[in-house]
Amino acid sequence: MNYVIDFFNGSKEQADLLGGKGANLAEMTKLNLPVPTGFTITTKACLDYLQEKQSISSELNEEIQEHVASLEVRTKKRFGNQTNPLLLSVRSGSKFSMPGMMDTILNLGLNDETVVGLAQKTGDSRFAYDCYRRLLQMFGDVVCGIGKDRFEEQLEFYKSKKKYRSDTDMKAEDWRELVAVYKNIYLEVTHQAFPQNPHEQLILSIEAVFRSWNNRRAVTYRRLHDIPDSLGTAVNIQEMVFGNFGSNSGTGVAFTRNPATGERGIFGEFLLNAQGEDVVAGIRTPQPISELEVLMPEVYQKFLQLSHLLEKHYKDMQDIEFTIENGQLYLLQTRNGKRTAKSAFKVCIQLVEEGIITKKEALQRINATMVTQLLHPVFEPAQLAQAKIFAKGLPASPGAASGNIYFTAEQAKKASEKGEKVILIRQETSPEDIEGMVVSEAIVTSRGGMTSHAAVVARGMGVCCVAGCEEIYVDEFLQQATVGEMTVYQGDRISVDGTTGTIYLDDIPYVEGDEWQLLETITNWAKEEAKIDVKANAETPADIKTALKLGAQGVGLARTEHMFFGEERIIEMRKMILAEQEEALISPLNRLKEFQKEDFRIMFCLLRGKACTIRLLDPPLHEFLPQTEEEIIHLAEATERTVAQIHHRIDGLHEQNPMLGHRGCRLAVTTPQIYEMQVAAIIESAIEVSQQDIEEIVEPEIMIPLIGSQEEMSWLRERLVRVVERVFDEKGQSVPYKIGTMLEIPRACLTADKIAEVADFFSFGTNDLTQLTYGFSRDDSVKFIGAYQEKHLLKEDPFQHIDEMGVGELMKIAVDKIRQVDSDIKIGVCGEVGGDPQSIRFLKKIGVDYISCSPYRIPAAILAIAQEC
Ligand code: PEP
Ligand code: MG
Repeated sequence: MNYVIDFFNGSKEQADLLGGKGANLAEMTKLNLPVPTGFTITTKACLDYLQEKQSISSELNEEIQEHVASLEVRTKKRFGNQTNPLLLSVRSGSKFSMPGMMDTILNLGLNDETVVGLAQKTGDSRFAYDCYRRLLQMFGDVVCGIGKDRFEEQLEFYKSKKKYRSDTDMKAEDWRELVAVYKNIYLEVTHQAFPQNPHEQLILSIEAVFRSWNNRRAVTYRRLHDIPDSLGTAVNIQEMVFGNFGSNSGTGVAFTRNPATGERGIFGEFLLNAQGEDVVAGIRTPQPISELEVLMPEVYQKFLQLSHLLEKHYKDMQDIEFTIENGQLYLLQTRNGKRTAKSAFKVCIQLVEEGIITKKEALQRINATMVTQLLHPVFEPAQLAQAKIFAKGLPASPGAASGNIYFTAEQAKKASEKGEKVILIRQETSPEDIEGMVVSEAIVTSRGGMTSHAAVVARGMGVCCVAGCEEIYVDEFLQQATVGEMTVYQGDRISVDGTTGTIYLDDIPYVEGDEWQLLETITNWAKEEAKIDVKANAETPADIKTALKLGAQGVGLARTEHMFFGEERIIEMRKMILAEQEEALISPLNRLKEFQKEDFRIMFCLLRGKACTIRLLDPPLHEFLPQTEEEIIHLAEATERTVAQIHHRIDGLHEQNPMLGHRGCRLAVTTPQIYEMQVAAIIESAIEVSQQDIEEIVEPEIMIPLIGSQEEMSWLRERLVRVVERVFDEKGQSVPYKIGTMLEIPRACLTADKIAEVADFFSFGTNDLTQLTYGFSRDDSVKFIGAYQEKHLLKEDPFQHIDEMGVGELMKIAVDKIRQVDSDIKIGVCGEVGGDPQSIRFLKKIGVDYISCSPYRIPAAILAIAQEC
């Protein structure tokens, strides 16, 4: 088994074994791009190390030695040689990019002797000692767990003693002195001298990178991004190239398109005379890449050319790390760039327009989370205009959020656990802050650029972020942030606009995002592919309008009970419920019918001939009766009854198990007049609308809830058809219509073939079907479902994701039975799982014709269906 693979022997298809970084380094090497030569130790070696041995085996050790020897031949340098030393970088790289979560060590191979050789060979001892101190710090931190701060403190102390303002003021002698200080720290903490043997340095570093797969931040990151623990990390060993080799050198990170907005064109930053970690850590604020064009025009042109090539090769926006050593450009990494949802949509659309990918490929690159993020909130413009600005920084990740500020990840996490909305303010973030960042509504940093840790991580999570607010003085110790005369303290409330990079002192209300157009393009492409329809669960005009804008192909569930709660309506509803004799029902029902007719008229007009499934009254009647004594007294007055009589009726409607009680079609078995009124209102309204308001044919679908048997369905259907016929007679006109039922009782599923003889369509009500199949109350199960999941008795909440084995099996039986009777009959799903992309895959498989879900879930649902086609 080979544990080590040279870059020139690998390829981009081997990310499992070589990790993403290793596979891409191999691919770039194959493309003859300027990649420093090297090799990759496979993820398999990491897993073996972690699982069994906990030390590098002699076979692996041997393989590493052999590959170092062949590196020496290729580079014409020697590892550990005093006059011509080969220096190496050791970088982690798992299959899926986990930015900054695992470890890296640079300048490996330096020791007290080779540093002298490097100084002589390069004629630059300042550079050589700077490299050495960096190695001591990184090695100390990564291999021995000596915190970076221990070293940084000494550097700061040294600089202030010498009255230096920045690292660039440090001279060769200064770095040499600091190297001695750093070696002492190493000795003090580990009780051992810093290893001078380069091979020992290399092996210890590789082991440390293997172990970093299981550090806390990496584990947290994997949990958040659903990356399996079983993958392991590869380790890339590469010849060092130096961005810190004077003013003709530098290092940077650039995206081939803007990762925040998706605009075309190179977007990135670089630092002159620096090594890679300086950019990512946000220690110094970098310059925009456009300035490289002025400083090093040839390097810039070369970089542009290579970035186009890489984008075309990978067919996606690339995130490229590069180093310039003495005017020579090297590529250190390329990967598909992490981006905001807005950027993801824009880039996909551009790549299709540019002929690089197909529409179908574009759809595979968008996911449900991105769709949600696209509709990011923005601040209410009027309120924003009046808000007081605290500071401005870089618009690192779009969105708008208000919250209480905290200065450490730990405090942010604690406050969020107490239910607070938190905003994390730091000088700069580091991977250790991940747990605090995850719970934050927004992240603000006073240092670092658009590719700093805070910016990259926030964008990936879709969390609003303003980075590099240099005017803010962040005092993490005193827990306060100051800009001129203004100071904010821990717990104070602020608002952050990640789209403009502005921070406000006020609490500003926000409104939804406005990226509908991008969404519309993708949704329309998805609709071309999607083989089943997506309708909306909506009954208010506002919701129906939103649903249509988001791509709904009609209304699949209008819950009519939601139409009875307006002030004028609820009183009529209550009068109807209180009626003791049939005659007393007439007046309130007539009033309610007028309200309903108007509601249906608006629905039919908005839908202009699109499907409209109206469900007749479902909940138990007690839900419409007053709760408070004050309301009870008011109802008694309005209906000329005594308070005692009202109480008596309320008591009479009380049920032990209302979800299993007098609700749904059972209401109509005891009091058919309610459904008869609703059906008359639907049909009258449909006729009137088709006469006057719209040209399209209105074909209402009347849906009866909670049917459990053919007898129920057929008895109700007969009565309702009679009402329809009567209305046709009265109006002298007819409209097409259907009478169908929900499938939400297990018995209905098991006898669906019988029900199909008397139903025109079906729609699975998976909320009730799950409740009745599992016997879990849909209202009370929150109390125990968490415990079930913790104890691994349930993988997922079956009310959110379809329970394929139980509820799903019943659905399959029902679909098969129905299809035996009528292969064309429409079968839909309108419970919550209908809007869940994960469940949609299953629903599509069992052969439903449409799903119906709440308006904001529609685009993700259409996309999920298209992705399955
Ligand atoms: C259902 O039960 O899945 C359903 C859509 O109806 P409701 O949620 O209104 O009971
Ligand atoms: Mg239901």
